[in-house]
Amino acid sequence: MKKIYLCAISNIRSGACNEDCRFCTQSVKWGADINRYKEKSIETIVNEAKLAKKNRASGFCLVTSGKGLDEKTLEYVCRAAEAVKKEVDITLIACNGTADKESLKELKNAGVKIYNHNLETSREYYPKICSTHTWDERFETCENIKSVGLRLCCGGIFGMGEGEEDIQSLINSLKKLKPDGIPLNFFIENPKLPLKATHNKDFAINIVKKFANEFKEAIIMLAGGRELVFGDSWTEALKRGANSIVIGDYLTTKGEKPDKDLEILIKEGFEIANEC
Ligand code: SF4
Repeated sequence: MKKIYLCAISNIRSGACNEDCRFCTQSVKWGADINRYKEKSIETIVNEAKLAKKNRASGFCLVTSGKGLDEKTLEYVCRAAEAVKKEVDITLIACNGTADKESLKELKNAGVKIYNHNLETSREYYPKICSTHTWDERFETCENIKSVGLRLCCGGIFGMGEGEEDIQSLINSLKKLKPDGIPLNFFIENPKLPLKATHNKDFAINIVKKFANEFKEAIIMLAGGRELVFGDSWTEALKRGANSIVIGDYLTTKGEKPDKDLEILIKEGFEIANEC
């Protein structure tokens, strides 16, 4: 019976980011119509973590918009992590952008076990999707994550106009980092964003197969865009090599109802992992 890891995400600071990532509705540059707020209350975050646990998620990710882990963000994420740790037995993940070693050590002391920082795409294609920071900075943060002993969750977004060679280049870079988990996101269009999606179901299945084949030891996660590219046949991607999904809502878009996903997984004979 194939074991599937479920991960829930909480956008604890949404929008108002000054970076210009062309795939991201949280950048102020594009003016997308999303819910923007500075800090979700600690009480709400703890309740969301409890709900994630009830929905059988083994990981709970605290996400903040913005370029990186500055002093204020660090203090807030540590406070949120400590509060969740006190009440909920769930693996804590943080995703707060560029980070130095000292900040990452503090997160670790607050109970965070895994840090998510995606390379997004190849080093060569990155300037086409972001001009305000570099791919090299992203890679450096990933090295920092590993060097302080946090587990690394690092993947990309597909269907942003990148070519085969970019996907291969991303794979080569990830091989150097050896991530524990690899989220595969499929770009979700928004009328305010300058990018158009260049994916379809066959393309997405091929991405899953390719990554599962290249990274046999890693957790291969279907993240943003799962419902969009696979529709009702998303479990096909689990049969082709993925072994994890995001359960519940995404950062700025609605996900499937957790009950419905769980029902499908159980009905199709998958086992839900209890820890990650
Ligand atoms: S840095 Fe993060 S939050 Fe900001 S625009 Fe880029 S992806 Fe979005």
